[in-house]
Amino acid sequence: MSTLAIIGAGISGLLTAYYALSNRTISQIILFEQRAKIPRKHCAGIISPETLSLLPYGLKYVENKYRNIEFHILPYIRITLRCSNTIAYKIDRVKHEMELYRTLIANGIDIQLSKKILMIDTKGGNDLVIHDLSTKDVIRKRFDYIIIGEGYPNKLSLDVGLNAMIKPLHGVQQDVIYSSKNVDKDTLYVFFDPIIFGGGFGWFIPITENRGVIGLACNEKPMEMLSIFRKILSKRLKMSINSITDTYGGKVLQGYPKSICRDNICALGDAIGMVKSISGGGLYAISRMSNVYARNIGINDIARQKEVREMLSELWIQYIFKRSLWRIVGMLKNSMFLDSTFSIELEVSQLDYDRHEKLPLDLIRYLISFKLRQG
Ligand SMILES: Cc1cc2nc3c(=O)[nH]c(=O)nc-3n(C[C@H](O)[C@H](O)[C@H](O)COP(=O)(O)OP(=O)(O)OC[C@H]3O[C@@H](n4cnc5c(N)ncnc54)[C@H](O)[C@@H]3O)c2cc1C
Repeated sequence: MSTLAIIGAGISGLLTAYYALSNRTISQIILFEQRAKIPRKHCAGIISPETLSLLPYGLKYVENKYRNIEFHILPYIRITLRCSNTIAYKIDRVKHEMELYRTLIANGIDIQLSKKILMIDTKGGNDLVIHDLSTKDVIRKRFDYIIIGEGYPNKLSLDVGLNAMIKPLHGVQQDVIYSSKNVDKDTLYVFFDPIIFGGGFGWFIPITENRGVIGLACNEKPMEMLSIFRKILSKRLKMSINSITDTYGGKVLQGYPKSICRDNICALGDAIGMVKSISGGGLYAISRMSNVYARNIGINDIARQKEVREMLSELWIQYIFKRSLWRIVGMLKNSMFLDSTFSIELEVSQLDYDRHEKLPLDLIRYLISFKLRQG
């Protein structure tokens, strides 16, 4: 029987602990979190139906579902994809994580809040140096296995030699009360414009007919960019924002993991750049990998698992794809041909919200069938 320490009670740490409950080789699980209170509100909570099915209480906290995506690329191009099925859900992540937290406590997992891991000392074993932020005591404790779910910045992961390509963007969101005759509650609105968002993008997520979330990820000055973006939304979606009820955010990452495990220490989630680089979405990989990690702790080499290797190469491809796409949008920005607006609506039978790298091929396929149908 072995002992497991999990660092960080974000979604990575909570889900790993949840799935580790079924791993019969683990006798003790301790989850360390530096904050005094969890969960924290920072994310939009947009996930695919597949990811929803992997979150233990996801279905219970669905706030809205979406069948369409409307892309606004620069001020000139609008592409609307209309799907007959649900392509994405919005969940209330705070409530979902709160329920996960309560389940873990009820199942005997030791969650230690206000405990900051100062370092992982690998000399002679895997020792955690734990700083109790309430008593100011510092103690050491040895574990057989450690999962790092520290998020970004990924200090502990780097210290133990785990490596990722990570490019952080500033992410900021506002819960708003809006009115608009043009906004469709079933549609996600996504905006790409390098002049405003740099390497990032903007979004408007309707939750009800008058409640929604405005957000963006950008290179610098997020609050200034958000106020510009609000004006763009007013113009393009003909919406007025009547009030802002909350402002929050965090780092939206682009990147991919390079080395995820060393000896008996593995990193998961934002700590190792496990994100879909176009959207910065982390729940897709975290919901899958937390289960694979937890099942294999003490049994198999996690990094060698087929699901893990497939996920790593997929995220790498998404990162390369994202960089190429942004280059193309950057070139379009300077294009002489784009001085008038271009708008297209496509009916699609299905759309994969997770595997972004498939999107251009899907789009080409849809455009060809659209042309044929027109002809
Ligand atoms: C504005 C915004 C919108 C987003 N929207 C989406 C979305 O719609 N869909 C989606 O899939 N993803 C989205 N994401 C990304 C998603 O939120 C993250 O990928 C995910 O939350 C990462 O979870 P995590 O557990 O790996 O890291 P975190 O949530 O950062 O959790 C890490 C935890 O570790 C703790 N910790 C850190 N260091 C230590 C230490 N030394 N000792 C003890 N504890 C420590 C931290 O306090 C924290 O609680 C969004 C992100 C942002 C910022």
